[in-house]
Amino acid sequence: MSRERVHDRDRVIPLRLRRGSRRLVACSLSLRIREGGAWIEAGEVIRQLRTFEHDDVVRLGGELCERCEAELRRRRRSSSEELAA
Ligand SMILES: [Zn+2]
Repeated sequence: MSRERVHDRDRVIPLRLRRGSRRLVACSLSLRIREGGAWIEAGEVIRQLRTFEHDDVVRLGGELCERCEAELRRRRRSSSEELAA
C-alpha cells in the first residue's frame, strides 16, 4: 500500500459549507444515499466518494427510499386492518 493513500484518522478537519458543496439525498429512515439512480448504503458512498478527505461538508437532503416507503405503507395497512378487526 502506498503511504500517500493512508488516511490520517487524527487529522482535524476544518469543516466548510460552501455554495458549491456537494448535495446528497439520504433516506430519512435507512440513511441510504441516492447515488446514480440507486440507493446505496451510506458507508459504501462514504468509501466511494472519500468524503472523509474533503474539506467541504456534504449537504444532505431527506427523502424516503422505495424500500422504506413500501415498508411504511405495509405497516400502515396492517395497523389499520388491526384497528378495523
Ligand atoms: Zn430507506
